[in-house]
Amino acid sequence: MTFEEFNLNRQLLNAIADAGYETPSPIQEKAIPLVLQGHDVLGIAQTGTGKTAAYLLPILMKIKYAQGETPRALILAPTRELVMQINAAVAELGKYTDLRHLALYGGLGPKTQIEALQKGIDIIVATPGRFLDLYLRGEIGVKQLSVLVLDEADKMMDMGFMPQINRILEVIPRKRQNLLFSATFPPKVERLSENFLEAPVRVEV
Ligand code: AMP
Repeated sequence: MTFEEFNLNRQLLNAIADAGYETPSPIQEKAIPLVLQGHDVLGIAQTGTGKTAAYLLPILMKIKYAQGETPRALILAPTRELVMQINAAVAELGKYTDLRHLALYGGLGPKTQIEALQKGIDIIVATPGRFLDLYLRGEIGVKQLSVLVLDEADKMMDMGFMPQINRILEVIPRKRQNLLFSATFPPKVERLSENFLEAPVRVEV
């Protein structure tokens, strides 16, 4: 299988070639077509499997161009390190698009993050706490959000992010595509996926 077979656009195929990816990994083969088709996806995959590109490539393909002021995709992850890593992957795979992306995490003062939000953003990668904090301050418009990703959902549950995630789910548009990725599938992730995903397709590697 090749990346060309997914009908990704030229900007993405060029970025994939620059990144040195030759063939799709198993999770990418399974997940990319499903996400492109608009399904909610439950992905059980460890770090190192290529899971990040498995959801990012179709999201970048769907969102395509910079548009408007408020974000259209939100990717939530448990730690600052993972948020930075995912944001770097957005930069790498989206380098030939004009999509504007931003990493939000705690630790630093929010001033720079707020300034970036005011200029207009297409994709936000965030820890749940910082996203909620900036949303509650009125700094993030959520009306255009059409894709939500929970990455490393098992770790988010272990770290006690359930209340923040539930609060976020209450305020974002109901009509959206949901993607949940987790390395393991314990009962609490199963419950989360039942609440969060609509008619999901499960992929596992
Ligand atoms: P992840 O599982 O998303 O953390 O990705 C693990 C690593 O594999 C990252 O450094 C990616 O850049 C890399 N990677 C992702 N997809 C591919 C691919 N199809 N071919 C080669 N490397 C890849």
